[in-house]
Amino acid sequence: MSEYSLIIIGGGLSGLAAGIRFARFGGSVLILEKHVIPGGLNSYYFRKGFLFETGLHAMTNFADPTDKHAPLNRLFRQIKLSRKKFETHEQRSSLIHFPDHSLCFSNDFNLLREEIASSFPSEIDGFDKLQQVINDFDAFSPGPWISTRKKIAEYLRDPLLIDMLLLPLMVYGNSDEHDMDFGQFVIMFRSIFKEGFFRPHGTMKEFLDLLVDKFKSFGGEIRYKSQVVSVEKKDQVITGVTLSTGETIGCENIISTIGAPGTWDLVALPHEKDKFSGKMSFVESIYLLPHHERGKILSDHTIIFYSEKNSLHYCRPKEPVDPDWGVICFPENFQGLPPGEHFQVRVTNSANYELWKNASPAEYKLMKQDWGEKSKDITSKIIGNYRQNIVYEDSFTPVTIEKFTGKAEGAVYGSSFKIKDGKTPFKNLFIAGTDQGFLGIVGSMLSGVSMVNQHVLMGQKLEKEKR
Ligand SMILES: Cc1cc2nc3c(=O)[nH]c(=O)nc-3n(C[C@H](O)[C@H](O)[C@H](O)COP(=O)(O)OP(=O)(O)OC[C@H]3O[C@@H](n4cnc5c(N)ncnc54)[C@H](O)[C@@H]3O)c2cc1C
Repeated sequence: MSEYSLIIIGGGLSGLAAGIRFARFGGSVLILEKHVIPGGLNSYYFRKGFLFETGLHAMTNFADPTDKHAPLNRLFRQIKLSRKKFETHEQRSSLIHFPDHSLCFSNDFNLLREEIASSFPSEIDGFDKLQQVINDFDAFSPGPWISTRKKIAEYLRDPLLIDMLLLPLMVYGNSDEHDMDFGQFVIMFRSIFKEGFFRPHGTMKEFLDLLVDKFKSFGGEIRYKSQVVSVEKKDQVITGVTLSTGETIGCENIISTIGAPGTWDLVALPHEKDKFSGKMSFVESIYLLPHHERGKILSDHTIIFYSEKNSLHYCRPKEPVDPDWGVICFPENFQGLPPGEHFQVRVTNSANYELWKNASPAEYKLMKQDWGEKSKDITSKIIGNYRQNIVYEDSFTPVTIEKFTGKAEGAVYGSSFKIKDGKTPFKNLFIAGTDQGFLGIVGSMLSGVSMVNQHVLMGQKLEKEKR
């Protein structure tokens, strides 16, 4: 006898959203999370009395509450959260900064179009045609991998403009090196350039608390410090999970949000390492500065995507960190956010997992210091010299990401191979989240909801009908 209709492995954003969606219809559901708090890649921690968010630069897919068809509002309806009561702060503006050109964009898509028309006048007709292709493209049905670079080259000729447009979309959601699947490009283009950035009022902790409370209010159960070490099966049917404590829990269905390689390992399915491995990981540095120093930072933008070269090298670097390109985020630079006592600068740079993994503890510490300084040298050239005013700093590496999320090699965007229909060789085991191909906070939540809708709720309804 199964104890739960559904077990969800992982209490990150896709797992929580999937849990709420299923519990809402009265199904018995248990979320198993190996850590002591929820959130996964997008969580929080406390240091020196401050709350730091691990992932949040900005949420994507901004939409006004009145826009009923927008993905963000559909998501809120599906998990029964009031979008009207959910207070949001839109970005001020963001910047794509390359040596020869800069492009500004905001949640008004016309700004980006005007910037392109002014800096790359011969490309604007091609850009408009590309936009039309993006509007019409079905990015959600399973299909072959299509090279974005080849596809965009049908509409844009200037390699600089192509790399400038690719930088934000790749760094916020591409697991491939150098190129990206066109379907993924379309999803990211819509969610970042067309819809835009915002952040919730309050911290990530408050947002996670809201989701967990909603889940529990529908009768869902969540257990922390509960690492699944294997998935039990009989013939081709999943029957339950076993935890690291040895406890076994029975269930009718499983949604796994821990990525394809981790899930395949749990069911003892062999997998080709190369097919599932993701190479892109990052070092994220958080700097805290006193508010009175704010005026010395030369930016009112929310996020700056920068490259020191006119061509983008989106790949795992040969050195521990590549500070030549990256992201600088100012989490306080959103419209209508009251100033606090301190403000943050966050910097993201691509990083080499193996070099961090193989470093001794002493080397690891030194590498953090050295590469942190190199990154500050470059970012200070863009935003002004902030380093002497830092009152607290912290950074995390691909090894930290692997440790706290289970993502193999700290691959933030998971495997390059995506399982868009969420199906596995087992008829009652499904994948949601990063390796289903929906990325970011809003994307991974939509993934959780849609996998429940497509596979589990549908199955439940059919079972009820049969009985
Ligand atoms: C530095 C950084 C910055 C980011 N910035 C942004 C941003 O600004 N905006 C944005 O939209 N997105 C951002 N993201 C991406 C976003 O955080 C992720 O896309 C999203 O949170 C993924 O959610 P998920 O549920 O699919 O996976 P995860 O968050 O990885 O959740 C999986 C969960 O499973 C748990 N788990 C793993 N193995 C087991 C096991 N065996 N048993 C039980 N539990 C297990 C993990 O602990 C984890 O909680 C960022 C990510 C990082 C790392």
